[in-house]
Amino acid sequence: MGGMTAPLPSRTFQPVLERIAEELERRPGRGRPADYIPALAAVDPGRFGMAVAEPDGTVYGVGEWRQPFSTQSVTKVFTLALDLAREGDELWEHVGREPSGNPFNSLVQLEYEHGIPRNPFINAGALVVTDRLHTRTGDAAGTLLDFLCAESGNPQLSFSKEVADSEAAHGDRNAALGHFMASYGNIGNPVPVLLDQYFRQCSIEASCADLALATGFLARHGIRADGTRLLTRSQAKQVNAVMLTCGTYDAAGDFAHRVGLPGKSGVGGGIIAVVPGRCTLCVWSPGLDERGNSVAGVAALDRFTTLTGLSVF
Ligand code: GLU
Repeated sequence: MGGMTAPLPSRTFQPVLERIAEELERRPGRGRPADYIPALAAVDPGRFGMAVAEPDGTVYGVGEWRQPFSTQSVTKVFTLALDLAREGDELWEHVGREPSGNPFNSLVQLEYEHGIPRNPFINAGALVVTDRLHTRTGDAAGTLLDFLCAESGNPQLSFSKEVADSEAAHGDRNAALGHFMASYGNIGNPVPVLLDQYFRQCSIEASCADLALATGFLARHGIRADGTRLLTRSQAKQVNAVMLTCGTYDAAGDFAHRVGLPGKSGVGGGIIAVVPGRCTLCVWSPGLDERGNSVAGVAALDRFTTLTGLSVF
């Protein structure tokens, strides 16, 4: 039944999710969990969950959709939104919005681009965003956690000390990025303070249901779950656009080609995606491809947009 053109009514989301899970069950080969953060390496790559949330907060799920996992770089969407809401366009003087074409933790572009990272989703750019949010709030990671709890309606979300400590113990490259950008004046807080915030940010554990709901403001063009406005319509468009072009490491072109939605992945195996005005998705499966994206996660989103006809294109 591939290739439908008209969007299906939302009551069909549950059968579509079940069909996707069933199809993936039969697919061999699911990649490998991230091993550069030891606390993530032990997770079974075959685990899978997926959730879809509608703008009114109705949520559908399949598999382990209520299982908390390590959100990692998925959080970069939310810190971007939270900072953009506070400082507006000035942020874009400190971080770009072009795909990098390099791995997420690369140092090479930073020198010839004078310490201004290509986009907010490579690690260098995410460090700049967290630094600026920390300057404005005094607690970037806490502000992020409060926001995720509020939007998901789940007050139980929390940091994982084990994962944050594990990252800190293996954080030389992120420390190098922070110090290097500080040398260009693009980091305002002491680098150790920033790294502590960033590692705690990445360590937040949440489920597919939590993240699909928390991403809802991007489907609602900037409106939070309680009806108040976080972003202008134009800023919500900006965040969705940077997700589409830069959200899946250096495979964003391939992701756009296959899935056709703004998306953001993390090395914990989670991916969030947005159908503006219609729904938000989160899929989790910890086996990653060589670019760092969840193998089953991308496949599931690919099937979702093919089966439902829901895409931005
Ligand atoms: N905490 C990870 C790091 O900075 C995030 C990586 C990711 O999910 O892309 O290396």
